[in-house]
Formats: sequence, C-alpha cells, structure tokens
Amino acid sequence: MDETIANILKTASSNPDYQQIANYLMSRRSYPEIAYMNKPSSNYGTFTSQGMFGNANIPQRGIVSINRNASTVDPNLVAPTLVHELTHAAETQLYKQYNEIKGKSNKTDVERQFIENFTKIMGAKATEQASAINPEFTKNNTAYRTRGDEALAFALANVNYPNSPSEQNAPSHIDPTIATQLMLLLEQAQRVQNQQPTSQGR
Ligand SMILES: [Zn+2]
Repeated sequence: MDETIANILKTASSNPDYQQIANYLMSRRSYPEIAYMNKPSSNYGTFTSQGMFGNANIPQRGIVSINRNASTVDPNLVAPTLVHELTHAAETQLYKQYNEIKGKSNKTDVERQFIENFTKIMGAKATEQASAINPEFTKNNTAYRTRGDEALAFALANVNYPNSPSEQNAPSHIDPTIATQLMLLLEQAQRVQNQQPTSQGR
C-alpha cells in the first residue's frame, strides 16, 4: 500500500466514528478502494460507486479518491476527507440495505427500527432537519453543503474534526444533530447486518 494512504488510514483509525463506519462497510464487504491521485479539480476527494448501470471500470465496493493536488501530505488534514467520502460509501450501503429489507413481510424489531430511522434522516430529510435548526444557513447552502446527499457527510466529518475549514463555516447544532442520528442509524444497520448469516466470518 502507498505509504501516504497507510498514514491517512492510521490517523483516521484513532477516530471511533471512522471505526464504526469502517466496520459497517467491511461487514457489507464494501470498504472502498482508496486511491491517492492527482486530479484536475479542486475537490478534496470523491466517492465513486458503480451506480445503476454497474460500470465495469469501478469495483462493486466503489472507489474513494483523495486528491493529491487539493490536499496535503499531512495525514491529519486528509483524514476528514476520508471520513467524508466513507460516509458517502456508507450511505450507498444504507440505501441498499433499506431496499433489501423494506419489502419483507416479517421484519425483525431491529429491521423495523432501522427502516423507521432511515426515513427520518436520509436524503431530503437531512436537509429538512438542517432547515428546522437554521433555516437561513440551510437555504443559502442547499446547492451543496446542506443538500440531502451531502449534509450527512459534512456533519460526520465536521463533528469528528473540529476547526477544519468546513466546520468553521457551519452554525452550531446542525452538524452534531445530524451526525448523532446518522451514527444511531449506522448502529441499527450494523445490528441488522449482523443478523445476516453471510456477514459472518469476514
Ligand atoms: Zn461529499
């Protein structure tokens, strides 16, 4: 493994939320490939999944690419990007898991709780929650920061890495509220996953 990636992973590993996300992804056999590369854009990183059409160039678990240009070799500064992008990987799995069990007629208690909480926080619901806490900030940032498919990733990286640039711009309460709910949902998702016989022996 690239030494820089190894250092980034080592730094992130000291973070309990990173561990919980990583464990969840591994139990779903979906911890993404990590690529540290030069990219033309100013993005710090991206998560690319296969999407609906099953792009053969992308592994099923997806790829997190960390931009060597926009970031820095300091693993402390790259760890928030990794947590942000892994949150996107986890979201992809949460949607899959939701689709796997929503139609089941004999749901277990944990499956019912998972479904119930999923519908309270995922996607547009995250923007709704942000809006309830701070309508003006949410309204001004729906193009990216508080968009349904970005709010969770920003929330989790920001609460874990205070004083990062995106954390400093955020009004209080939005990120902690959303991150707490996401971690609860992940905990339930993990319990649902642990009930699957296929998740054993990873
Ligand atoms: Zn993002």
